[in-house]
Amino acid sequence: MSDQNCLFCRIVAGEVSADSVFQDERCIAFRDANPQAPVHLLVVPRDHIESLDDAAQKDEALLGHLLRVGARVANEQGLFESGYRTTINTGAGAGQSVFHLHVHILGGRSFTWPPG
Ligand code: 5GP
Ligand code: ZN
Repeated sequence: MSDQNCLFCRIVAGEVSADSVFQDERCIAFRDANPQAPVHLLVVPRDHIESLDDAAQKDEALLGHLLRVGARVANEQGLFESGYRTTINTGAGAGQSVFHLHVHILGGRSFTWPPG
């Protein structure tokens, strides 16, 4: 399941380059092109799922996997002591701009709450 018009499907397919830090059979993680923190990674399923809203019951294990990979890459990037923020934007109103589900991992600076 991939969409030729989808940027992240094209990154998954290797048609658009990205600075990858992790890959397995279900997902890839790469550096955000416009980082909002010293470490800003995106964990992206290989299958095209538009948003969290479109994740079905069959995707439950995949969703858990994306979060566990997020923790793994965050720790590999040295964020274990400082902590990191994990974000999924769902819908344009919440800031989603690429409509292929992805988990943001941000770290290396302090964060405020509530987020902007
Ligand atoms: P969203 O706004 O959908 O939650 O997050 C999309 C993210 O994708 C943004 O943080 C944006 O900087 C990042 N992004 C957009 N285009 C590219 C690209 O071509 N390569 C990479 N590595 N990141 C991208
Ligand atoms: Zn896609």
